[in-house]
Amino acid sequence: MSGNQSRVQAISQIVNRKLTPAKPPKRLEDMWATDVFSLSQMQERLPKNIFKSVKNTIQTGQTLDPSVADVIAVAMKDWAISKGALYYAHVFYPLTNSTAEKHDGFISVQSDGSVISEFAGKLLVQGEPDGSSFPNGGIRSTAAARGYTAWDVTSPAYVMETDNGMTLCIPTVFISWTGEALDKKTPLLRSIAAMNKAATRVLKLLGNTEVAPVNSSCGAEQEYFLVDSNFANNRPDLLLAGRTLFGKPPAKGQQFDDHYFGAIPERVQVFMQEVEERMYRLGIPAKTRHNEVAPGQFEIAPFFEAANVASDHQQLTMTILRNTAKKHGFVCLLHEKPFAGINGSGKHVNWSVGNATQGNLLDPGDTPHSNIQFLVFCGAVIRGVHKYGSLLRAVVATASNDHRLGANEAPPAIISVYLGSQLEDIFEQISQGGVKGSKSRGIMNLGVETLPTFMKDAGDRNRTSPFAFTGNRFEFRAVGSGQSVSGPLVAMNTILADSLDWVANKLESDLAKGTELNAAIQTLLKEVMDEHGAVLFGGNGYSEEWHKMAEERGLANLRTTADALSALKEGYIEDLFEKTGVLTPVELESRYDVYAEQYLLAIEVEAKLVLSMTKTLIYPAAVSYLSELSSTISKLKEIGIELEKETAEKVAALVKSMMDTASNLTDALTKHDFATTDEHMQYASQTIRPLMDEVRQYADALEGEVADDLWPLPTYQEMLFVK
Ligand code: ADP
Ligand code: MG
Repeated sequence: MSGNQSRVQAISQIVNRKLTPAKPPKRLEDMWATDVFSLSQMQERLPKNIFKSVKNTIQTGQTLDPSVADVIAVAMKDWAISKGALYYAHVFYPLTNSTAEKHDGFISVQSDGSVISEFAGKLLVQGEPDGSSFPNGGIRSTAAARGYTAWDVTSPAYVMETDNGMTLCIPTVFISWTGEALDKKTPLLRSIAAMNKAATRVLKLLGNTEVAPVNSSCGAEQEYFLVDSNFANNRPDLLLAGRTLFGKPPAKGQQFDDHYFGAIPERVQVFMQEVEERMYRLGIPAKTRHNEVAPGQFEIAPFFEAANVASDHQQLTMTILRNTAKKHGFVCLLHEKPFAGINGSGKHVNWSVGNATQGNLLDPGDTPHSNIQFLVFCGAVIRGVHKYGSLLRAVVATASNDHRLGANEAPPAIISVYLGSQLEDIFEQISQGGVKGSKSRGIMNLGVETLPTFMKDAGDRNRTSPFAFTGNRFEFRAVGSGQSVSGPLVAMNTILADSLDWVANKLESDLAKGTELNAAIQTLLKEVMDEHGAVLFGGNGYSEEWHKMAEERGLANLRTTADALSALKEGYIEDLFEKTGVLTPVELESRYDVYAEQYLLAIEVEAKLVLSMTKTLIYPAAVSYLSELSSTISKLKEIGIELEKETAEKVAALVKSMMDTASNLTDALTKHDFATTDEHMQYASQTIRPLMDEVRQYADALEGEVADDLWPLPTYQEMLFVK
């Protein structure tokens, strides 16, 4: 089939597709958490004392009594079998952005050859996957490949439906034989513990006698693209790299702004409904859904949950989106920049901290200037983001996110904090020496009698800020669409733990000297502003002036992963993780190694794909067009008609430039002698990537010249607009 025939066929298949009929909507109560081994399931199935013990572990973080594990395992197994499960899996979260699981049957063969279903406590609590194929950054040599998974009691077990039936899934941590964290969950749990410890200290110093465990919360907004699989299957780049390595922007892009909050296309709505049902069954509180800015782009956001559970649920959400898309004839792209010239996708990680006794510690209330608890916690965040901005940049550094950060659609690579006008004013007053009041939020009168008046929010939104305060939480907006939220959550919890420890130390010493609490806090907050106020920025983060100003303020602008990842090797970052107990130096180093390798690998795969697509798809199409064109020109000349030659010359020149650049790229890829990983990453970002972009430029120009019936790849126009 010629390029165009397969494209025409794809279009006709899409246009004539029979819609999967939407299932009649179910009542939320009939779906909610039906596939979760929830507290209420446990209460129903466990003896009272056992239930009390496990509930205690879940709610207060107390160590699980090993003797109860056997009883829970049997109850869990019986429940899972009643849901149709034959297998169980320890689910873990390696240093990739995906989840991994090892499936085992409940089957146990008896001495007389008969079989029974069995699941002992030790199988629930601990597993040993042969994990030698997971990235570990040198923590384990293959010879010492043992890795253990251990049940994370605080994240509920569930049954997951796949094409192969139901499986009982048990969320676990993944550690090496020597006890090092090989995964993303272990440091997340440690970071919550560190933050809890420091926050509790501060809350007690502020005069609270009763302080419940402090946890962090997360609500992650997930952006994604849907592309019909008839098109995606004809794009090797979409299949292997998750983004288009070639493609001319369409005549109509997103300029009309007619997609955002427009009506969701029917086919997509049926897809979303199924996604939500699957999420509800797993106890994931999906809440909002809408179109995003770009055509073919959508967003889903759940209601926020405890960070640890939210993180597991976020991984499940990505899996559900991808799998459900397949069933509906779509490919779901969680790439940060699948289409050049079209907005990319990110993930907004909304984050706050709080507990059962003091509530949300980032809630400013109506009079934030007199809300000491809020000011202290907010000040601690400001200090942390300023001091460890490079860390926040490093945890969102991936090969694919480099295409998005700083591209005037996503926050710039400069990490700053947006507070909104009311809080900005309060912190400004603090730095001037004392707070007197809060600017009123004001009442909005819509000028129409029948419409209600309403309270304005204390600050407008600022879409250009990477780290924005949004009412009662911070929203970290630089996270990549396909990234696990664990890394960003670990970073935020850990820098807050560090700042709160600093606060507690200061207050303790001031109070010991006899300083009155309020005065000590005033001094402390003023110091935060004097030392760290430079990180606050309320203007347009996309503007050139900000880039200049940020430089003057000494804020880093780490444009690429090659620039950003080395933060993980800085001594002060190593100290931060070591003193908070979140990562040992070895664990931190392994993360640098793994993420650097992933970066290099991603670029290498893309570069090779650029070469093969250029040689086997684009070059042949351009050359056949050229041959058609030139033979027509000479045939016409024989009968005395002169046809213009410019097109043929232009195509020939583009083909030549494209192939010359491709050959340079081939040569560039042969270089392997690098003194350091940093040097290798710089080479990938400064030499390989620009050559890939250059090949693309010629190829995209050819797409605008070569006859459409010869073009071998589904076009942007088709992928984005044919539904
Ligand atoms: P927007 O698109 O306006 O930023 P959304 O409503 O789409 O907002 O998403 C906001 C996210 O923030 C939701 O997941 C919501 O549950 C979450 N969120 C709200 N309050 C908090 C909080 N205190 N802590 C963490 N996340 C929160
Ligand atoms: Mg948001």
